[in-house]
Amino acid sequence: MADPEILIIGGGPAGLTAGIYASRAGHSTLLLEKEITGGQMTKTTLIENYPGFAQPVNGFELVQQMENQARRFGCQIEFSAATALILTPSGIEVEATTGKYYPRTIIICTGTKSRSLDIPGEKELAGRGVSYCAVCDGPLYKDKEVAVIGGGDSALQEADYLTRFCSRVHLIHRRDQFRAVKMLEERVRNNPQITLHLSHIATRINGKERLEDLELKNLATGETKILPVAGLFIYIGLLPNTEWCSNVIQLDEQGFILTDEKLQTNIPGVFSAGDVRKKELRQIATAVGDGAIAAMNAHHFCLHK
Ligand code: NAP
Repeated sequence: MADPEILIIGGGPAGLTAGIYASRAGHSTLLLEKEITGGQMTKTTLIENYPGFAQPVNGFELVQQMENQARRFGCQIEFSAATALILTPSGIEVEATTGKYYPRTIIICTGTKSRSLDIPGEKELAGRGVSYCAVCDGPLYKDKEVAVIGGGDSALQEADYLTRFCSRVHLIHRRDQFRAVKMLEERVRNNPQITLHLSHIATRINGKERLEDLELKNLATGETKILPVAGLFIYIGLLPNTEWCSNVIQLDEQGFILTDEKLQTNIPGVFSAGDVRKKELRQIATAVGDGAIAAMNAHHFCLHK
C-alpha cells in the first residue's frame, strides 16, 4: 500500500473500530498490529458487558467480527510493530518493523500490557507456571490448585473463570477490600472453589523446573506461609504501551497519552484511542467509542489539512 492517509497503530477494539470508521469514510487506512488483533480482549474470557450480546460473547469471536468488518470497508492490516514516531518538516514519520510510513494522520491505539510483580522467581518461571493470561493457560491446570494475584475486575473475573478447570483457586490481594465491581466480588465470595487470602502479598515465587509454591506474607500480622500451587496468574493492573512514542507525545505521570475532547494529542494530526490514553473507564465499550471519535476527527483533519 502507498502511504496511507490514516495510519492506525494497534489492533484492539479501539484500533479496529477506528479502522471501520476511517475506511468507511473513504480514506486509505492501514492498521499496524504487533502480535494478534484484539489486544486485552483476547486475554479475557467471556465478555458479558459489551452491549448487543444478551449472552456472554467470547473475546476471540468479537475480535474476529470487528476485524472482518474493518477489512470489509477496505482497512488493510499489517503485522508490524511501531518503533518510533518522528516529526519531520514535511509531516509525520512512523518507523515500524516492516518499514517507514508517512501518513497524513495517525491514531495511536497501542493499548496496555500486564504489570509485573517484580518479585524473585517471577521472570525465571514466566511461562513455566507463571502466567498473565487465564484464557490462554487456564486449561493447562485441570484439577490442579492455582493462585491469582490482584483485587481488580481482571483478577476476580479470571479467578472465577479458572474454577471451571482448577480444583481450587487461591485469590491473593494486598488489601482487605476489592477494587472490582460488586457483582464480581459477590461471585468470587460465593464460589466454594475460591479461597481468599486478603491483606496478603506474594514475596517470592519458588520452583526449579516449574512453579512449585509461593511465599505469602500477611500484611496484618507479619506472618509468612508457603502456598503450594501449580499455576500463578498475575492480574495487578496494566501499563501503557507508549515507550516508542514518548519522546514526542505528551503523557501523564504513568505514561498514558493525554488527549483533548477530539482525542487529539499534543501533536496536530496525531490522535489516540482506547486504553492507552488517560481516561476514567477502560472497557471495550469505551475503547470502541474512542475509536469512532478519533477516526472521525482524523477524517476531518485530512479534509481540512
Ligand atoms: P486494576 O483495576 O488497576 O486493578 C489492579 C489490582 O492489582 C488492584 O486491586 C491493585 O491493588 C492490585 N495491585 C497493583 N499493584 C500491585 C502489586 N504490586 N502487588 C499486589 N497487588 C497489586 O487492573 P485490572 O483489574 O487489570 O483492570 C484494568 C482495567 O480494565 C480497569 O479499568 C477494569 O475496570 C477494566 N476491566 C473491566 C472488566 C469488565 O468490565 N468485565 C474486566 C477486566 C478489566 P489495590 O486495589 O490495592 O490498588
